[in-house]
Amino acid sequence: MTRVVFLGGGVGGSMVANQLARQLKADVLHGDVDITVINQTPDHVYQPYFLYMAFDQAVPAEAHRPERSVLHPLVKLVVGEAERVDREASQVWMQDGTKISYDFLVIATGSRPAPELIPGLAEGGHIFYTEEGALKLRDALAAFRGGRIVVTVSVPHKCPVAPLEFTLMVRDWLDQRGMESAEVLYTYPIGRLHSLEPVAEWASRVFPTRRIQSQTFFNVESVDAENHTVTSLEGDTVSYDLLVSIPPHVGQPVIQRSGLGDAGGWIPTDRYSLLMEGSENIYVLGDATNLPISKAGSTAHFEADVVSANLINRIRGGRGSVRYDGKVFCFIEAGREEATYIKFDYQHPPQPQPPSSMIHLYKLAFNKMYWLSAAGIL
Ligand SMILES: Cc1cc2nc3c(=O)[nH]c(=O)nc-3n(C[C@H](O)[C@H](O)[C@H](O)COP(=O)(O)OP(=O)(O)OC[C@H]3O[C@@H](n4cnc5c(N)ncnc54)[C@H](O)[C@@H]3O)c2cc1C
Repeated sequence: MTRVVFLGGGVGGSMVANQLARQLKADVLHGDVDITVINQTPDHVYQPYFLYMAFDQAVPAEAHRPERSVLHPLVKLVVGEAERVDREASQVWMQDGTKISYDFLVIATGSRPAPELIPGLAEGGHIFYTEEGALKLRDALAAFRGGRIVVTVSVPHKCPVAPLEFTLMVRDWLDQRGMESAEVLYTYPIGRLHSLEPVAEWASRVFPTRRIQSQTFFNVESVDAENHTVTSLEGDTVSYDLLVSIPPHVGQPVIQRSGLGDAGGWIPTDRYSLLMEGSENIYVLGDATNLPISKAGSTAHFEADVVSANLINRIRGGRGSVRYDGKVFCFIEAGREEATYIKFDYQHPPQPQPPSSMIHLYKLAFNKMYWLSAAGIL
């Protein structure tokens, strides 16, 4: 019997597990293949809704489904936190002391925002990258009566375009509530407005038309929650009435505990095969990799197609030769009920399209259709 174990049942883990169950149904029913997903929470959470929750345009119930209902009936689910991966024994050790053996391991543990890396940030800033943070920000925005909203970005972080989306949406939100004189300031750590150059150029054209100020070369060093200021490593200090911050992200603790990650907790991964470097039976996908591409659900989705194809092929005796081409697709909410999108891969840079209401509607529709892609159907 071939045992395939998934560490992490979010976007990437669920998609691959479901694709395997659908395509290897006969083998699973015959007892030749066993598929197990380990996830630390009983719920599957669709994180893009956090952006909308901050504006009271979505509620937590829309973002949650029981992981059991997302998984194919032939996929086993273990709810609990994995303590570590024991590569020598090909086992995942759970915090409750149980051990789960694998022939193939798929790691899709995602990433987490680490506000603790910036002194004062947790006390002084709002973070819509968690559900709890998004709901607190929703209440703070409802109470906001004017002044200056500062949006700071630290890298690396997941969903590379969400800070831009929030900035454009909050400008719109203020204008709709008669707060045209409120200021919006967006800061970015390098010498342009986004790490992807065409996106930075697009934002630098759009921001002035929306009365959004910006400051580049602003690496957030600390936040003074009492005096409402944020200071950069470059020595600049800006004051705020409401601070919305995207903290730097790190890999999950289980990766560090297992000795599998680099200093940031990202797993060295072959950019084409998606095998963990130095391993023939551990695949990595989604935010957990160290690949120099966007940490996004769409990245996990395109990678899932490659990992599933290779796993199925190898289980059937092949060599697993499908290669990931670096494909990413991101919608970008642009405010005013319009959106644009970018798609790119290792060879082709993104080209943001003119925003339209049609693309905005498509993004909203995709949010609802997400559950079909998690099921491995879309
Ligand atoms: C505000 C916001 C907006 C976003 N918008 C978009 C968007 O519009 N488009 C887009 O493509 N992406 C978007 N993203 C990014 C997207 O959600 C992530 O990139 C995606 O979820 C990554 O998928 P993953 O499978 O790598 O990890 P995740 O989906 O985060 O899943 C990781 C899973 O691993 C589990 N896990 C972790 N550690 C353990 C452990 N020790 N034991 C057991 N289980 C564990 C977790 O419980 C979780 O279920 C957004 C993210 C945020 C926060």
